[in-house]
Amino acid sequence: MVGRSVRSVSTHRPQRTCIGCKRVDDQSQLLRWVLDEQDPTRVLPDPTRRKSGRGAWLHPVPECVQQAARRRAFSRAFRSGNIGHDVEALLHAMSGSPPRGGYDTEKTPESGSQAVETR
Ligand SMILES: [Zn+2]
Repeated sequence: MVGRSVRSVSTHRPQRTCIGCKRVDDQSQLLRWVLDEQDPTRVLPDPTRRKSGRGAWLHPVPECVQQAARRRAFSRAFRSGNIGHDVEALLHAMSGSPPRGGYDTEKTPESGSQAVETR
C-alpha cells in the first residue's frame, strides 16, 4: 500500500493506531506506553506523553492490552525482544493498583508458575 496520496488533512487531531486492536483512533483516546528507563524489559504507561523515545499506543482497556500482549505487539513496537507479554503486569501498570483477583476471571495456563508476591 502506498500511503503517499492520502492527504486527509481536514482532521486536525492526531491519529494513532492501537497496537492491540489495530484500530486507528484519536490520540486522545489512546494511552501511550514507553519502555521503563530503569528496566527496559518492561513497558509503562505514559499518560502525560512527556517521555522521550519510542512510544506505543493502546486503548486503555484490558482487551486491547491483552491482544497486544498475545501478539507480542510491544516487542514489535519497541524493536526489542521479550517485552510486554505479561498481561497482569501491564494491567497492573495501567490501573496503578494491584489486580487482587479483580478482573482476572479466566484462568491462565501459566498460573502457578510463579508465586504471588505479597508485601
Ligand atoms: Zn485498541
